[in-house]
Formats: sequence, C-alpha cells, structure tokens
Amino acid sequence: MSVLRVSDEQLLSPACATMLPMEQVDAVVIGAGVVGLAVGRALTLSGREVLVLESENAIGTGTSSRNSEVIHAGIYYPAGSLKARLCVQGKSMLYAYCAERGVAHQRLGKLIVATSTEQVKDLDGIIAKAAANGVHDLQKLTAAQAQALEPALACEAALLSPSTGVIDSHAYMLALQGDMENAGGLLALVSPVQHIGLKHGTATHPIRVITQDGTELACKVLVNAAGLNAVALAERMDGLDKNLLPQAHYAKGNYFTLSGKAPFSRLIYPVPEKAGLGVHLTLDLGGQAKFGPDVQWVDDPADLQVDSRRGDAFYAEVRKYWPGLADGALQAGYAGMRPKINAPNEAAADFMIQGPAEHGVPGLVNLLGIESPGLTSSLAMAQEVCARLA
Ligand SMILES: Cc1cc2nc3c(=O)[nH]c(=O)nc-3n(C[C@H](O)[C@H](O)[C@H](O)COP(=O)(O)OP(=O)(O)OC[C@H]3O[C@@H](n4cnc5c(N)ncnc54)[C@H](O)[C@@H]3O)c2cc1C
Repeated sequence: MSVLRVSDEQLLSPACATMLPMEQVDAVVIGAGVVGLAVGRALTLSGREVLVLESENAIGTGTSSRNSEVIHAGIYYPAGSLKARLCVQGKSMLYAYCAERGVAHQRLGKLIVATSTEQVKDLDGIIAKAAANGVHDLQKLTAAQAQALEPALACEAALLSPSTGVIDSHAYMLALQGDMENAGGLLALVSPVQHIGLKHGTATHPIRVITQDGTELACKVLVNAAGLNAVALAERMDGLDKNLLPQAHYAKGNYFTLSGKAPFSRLIYPVPEKAGLGVHLTLDLGGQAKFGPDVQWVDDPADLQVDSRRGDAFYAEVRKYWPGLADGALQAGYAGMRPKINAPNEAAADFMIQGPAEHGVPGLVNLLGIESPGLTSSLAMAQEVCARLA
C-alpha cells in the first residue's frame, strides 16, 4: 500500500480530500483486540475488503489479554440487554467455533455458592434471571450435592452452571486473524489511528482515517473497536454528534494467584453482590487458580499495577467458600481494566453499539463500554455490527 503523508493544516481541511489522492479500502476496523478481530473476520467473510489498524506491535495486547478467559453462560445481565443477548448467542457461537477451529477450551462448569441462609434465598432469583435470558440449564444443588462435586467447598447450597467454560483467548484471537487473512483481510500493526473525518474522504469512500505516521485512507465503513480508547477516539471524530457519547470511566480488576494446586475442578463464584460478581475463583486451561477480579475505580486506564495490600481483603472473602485457604497462599497476579461507561455510583451500563441508526453517519459503528462479557460475546457482536451496517 502506498503511503501518503499530510500536514496538520491539511488534516483540518475537508477540502484537502479533493486535492489529494487517497488510498481506498472498503472497511477499516480500529483495534485488533478480540472484538476488532472478530469484526474484521466477519466483515471480510461477508465479502468486504477489510483493513484492521492496531496501534501496538501485536494483536490482543489490551483488555483481551487481561481478563478471566471465561466463557460466560449469560446468567446475570438484565433481560433484553445487549449483554444478555450477545453473551448467550456468543457463547453458543464460540463453543462451535472452538470445536471447528481447534481452539483450546474446556466446558468446566461453574458453581454459584450461597454461604448464608439469606443467600440461599437469592438462588431462585438467579435461576429466574438466567431463564429470562434463555439460560435454562442451571441446576440447584444442596450443600451435600455441591460438596460431592467439590469436596473442599463450604456452602449452604449452590447452583451448577454447566455451560460456563474457559478458553485460550490468545489462540482464539490467532484463529480469528487467520480466518480474516485467509479470506483476504489485512492487519496493520503499529498503526495508531489519530484523525477521523467522517465526511472528508472521497465521493465513493466518504470516511477519512489518518494514522500517526500520516498515512491517509478513505473508507466506506469504519468500526471503532478501540477498547479503552474507543470513547476518546469517537470524541475526536470530525462530523459526529458528541452529545451521543458517554463519559469514559475505568475500573481496574486485580487478580491474585494461588501458589500450588487448587482443590477445585470447576469455577467457584459467590452469590453476586451489588458491586460486582464477588471474589471468585477461576481456573486456566492448565488448572492454575486465580481469584478476582476485584473492582478498583481509577482515573488512568494505563494504571495496571497490582497493589499487593489489596490481597488482604481476598482472604476473608475466599474463606467464606474455601475455609482451607492457607495464610500466604495468594500472590499478586495481574490486572485488567474495564472500559466503563457508567460512573461508580451508577448502575452498570449495557454495551453501547452506536451504528447509523443511532448517530446518522452511514458506515460508522462505535463499540463503547465493551467490558465483560465482551470475550464471550465477540462472535455475536461481530454479527451485530454487520447487521447494523447492512
Ligand atoms: C478484569 C476483566 C476480566 C474480564 N473477564 C472476562 C471473561 O472472563 N469473559 C468475557 O467474556 N469477558 C471478560 N472481560 C471482558 C473482555 O476482556 C473484553 O470485553 C474484551 O477483551 C474487549 O475486547 P476489545 O477488542 O473491545 O478491546 P481490547 O482488547 O482492549 O482491544 C482494543 C485494541 O484497540 C487498540 N487501539 C486503541 N486505540 C487505538 C487507535 N487509536 N488506533 C489503533 N488501535 C487502537 C488497542 O491497542 C487494543 O489492541 C473481562 C474484562 C476485564 C477488564
């Protein structure tokens, strides 16, 4: 692809679109995380010429490599929300995709454990909420039944979610990239998008995208899948009604890893509290256990250090369902950053997918607030993006 560089004055002028030749591509996707790659793949398979632009020198270095790698069942999200619909659809699509493409995953199942009589009463509500989302496979277990499955567990009762699993998210992203490239799609690394003019392209390709090194592209379709940077990027789009954009907030999720082997073979979640899913235990494909993520609201999305003192609060929470957790067994692990579009004192927001019907700009989709269950939902979200562009 030939490279064209433009000056700052030219960037500001819509007229320069008519003066300068521009490289044209049917569709540009910003961001090569799990969502951008799934969208890039889907657009390529639908017959479009696609270029995915990624600012880093590798795919999936953002939130897509700093999560729990859980294939969520779709239990807790409000009925009718995008999170509920895309998680449940995405889960089925993801299991089928993993099987077809040989992506490592395990349908381990998860136990939601009630550790007090008050929490036992909440279990029926969780079953009803899941059913409203189309998740009908939850099984209610007595303490004895749960302990027969997981002897180290302490609880009053539990729910078994058999369709919850874990996935090798990097292998999944490589498979998506492979599909896209085999179908003719392109990925450009080290290509941070800096300027976007929604009416500054050519007559046939009206959107203009300019990367940091001055490379200029005109496209018909632009999908902003920039994760933590998506709201900031949308705010800089020339020609977009900024009143439609939410305020970006960031909630860090810290993990603590267990030294030694965990005596569990399923994921263990407490009954959710108001602030989040509670300190839960997840396993990777090698059986290594980690606890978290907790919720720590921060101002800087790059603040990914784990403060080991936060581990103190984990012990008491974990011992409610695993009294055998030994002193000193938890080590500071890693952190991921949730791209929030609600403030700490507000109810959790739904995914925000803004397409032409929302903002009136043909060919543009902004994907905002794509926190959990974004990994599980990625294939369904890509399908949704294609539908909104149709
Ligand atoms: C702590 C935590 C735990 C989670 N656990 C789970 C889970 O178990 N299951 C689940 O389903 N979901 C989970 N999620 C959610 C899931 O990880 C995310 O929804 C998903 O990874 C988002 O993918 P993405 O592609 O939108 O964003 P990202 O992975 O952040 O990708 C965005 C990409 O855009 C690039 N970019 C940014 N700006 C630009 C620019 N200007 N130009 C070019 N490129 C740019 C970035 O470099 C990055 O690579 C979790 C999230 C967190 C934070």
